[in-house]
Amino acid sequence: AKKLGRNQYSFYTQEMQYVANRRTEQKRELRNALLNHEFEIYFQPLVNLRTGIVTKAEALIRWRHASMGMVSPAEFIPLAEDAGLIHEIGSWVFIECLDQALKWRSQLHPDFQISVNLSPVQFKHTAYFERWFNLIASAANTHNCLCVEITEGVLLDASAKTAQQLLRFREAGIEVAIDDFGTGYSSLAYIKRIEVDYLKIDRSFITNIAAESTDYPLVEAIIMMAHKLGLKVVAEGVETEAQLALLDSIGCDYIQGYYYAKPLPRAEFEAWVLAQQQ
Ligand code: C2E
Ligand code: CA
Ligand code: CA
Ligand code: CA
Repeated sequence: AKKLGRNQYSFYTQEMQYVANRRTEQKRELRNALLNHEFEIYFQPLVNLRTGIVTKAEALIRWRHASMGMVSPAEFIPLAEDAGLIHEIGSWVFIECLDQALKWRSQLHPDFQISVNLSPVQFKHTAYFERWFNLIASAANTHNCLCVEITEGVLLDASAKTAQQLLRFREAGIEVAIDDFGTGYSSLAYIKRIEVDYLKIDRSFITNIAAESTDYPLVEAIIMMAHKLGLKVVAEGVETEAQLALLDSIGCDYIQGYYYAKPLPRAEFEAWVLAQQQ
C-alpha cells in the first residue's frame, strides 16, 4: 500500500507538472492569439418559448490554436484573467458582437440581440466600458442590441460601484443578465440593489428537472420569483424534449441548449436561423 501510495504521488506530481507547463505555455501563446486572429466567436441561439422565434444568441469565444487545436474557454479564460489579457480579449469580443448584432438586425430580425459574457475581472478596468458606450452611442439602431452576462460573483463584492457600473450599461441601452443563476453563494439581496433584465438558470438545475428531483420545484419557484420581479428567465443546457415540455409548462421564457443547437460558427448560425424562419 505504501508503494502504491508513492507511485500515485509521483503520478500526480507528473500530472500536475504537465498541467502547470501547459498553463505557462498557453499563457505565453495567449498574448499573440489576438494578433494572430486565432480567436473565433461561436453563437448559440436562445429560442423564445412562446413564439418559437429566435432573436437572441449568446456569443461564446473559441481559440483555434495552431498545434493544440481547439482550446476550451473554460480552460483559457481563467488564464487570460490571470495574465491580465481578459481586458483586450473581452473588448475584442464585445466590439465584434456589436458589429454582428447590427448586421443581424438588418439580415435576420429587427430586434436581434447578442449576449456577451463579462468576466468579473473586467470590472477592474472600466475604461474599456466607456469606449464601448461611446461606440454604441455613435451608431444607429443599437438599443438593446447587446446584453451582458455577469455571474453572481460580480455582485458578491457588490460595492455601490458595481451597481453603478451596471446602471451605466442599462443607460447605454445594453441589457444585463445574471448568468449561472443559482450556483453562487448569493443571498438574493443584490436583486433589490441592482436592476437586471434576465436570469439564466444554470444547467445543473435543468439536467435532472424531468427526473424525480427537487430541481423541478426549485426551477418553478425561481421562474415565479423572477416574473414577479419583472425579469425574464432563460433555461441553460436544455437537451431533451422532456426538459423543454416541463419548462414550457412552468412559463420559462427562453430556452438555450443542445436540444435546439450547439454554439455554431457565424455562417452556420445564420443558416440555422434562416431555416427556422421558413
Ligand atoms: P457559460 O457562459 O455558462 O456558457 C454556456 C456553456 O454551456 C457554453 O460552453 C455552451 O457551449 C455550453 N452549453 C450550451 N448548451 C448546452 C447543453 O445543452 N449541454 C451542455 N452540456 N452544454 C451546453 P463553452 O462555450 O465551452 O463556454 C464555457 C464558459 O466559458 C462559458 O460558460 C463562459 O463562462 C466562458 N466564456 C465563453 N466565452 C466567453 C467570453 O467571450 N468571455 C468570457 N469572459 N467568458 C466566456
Ligand atoms: Ca453565459
Ligand atoms: Ca451560463
Ligand atoms: Ca458558466
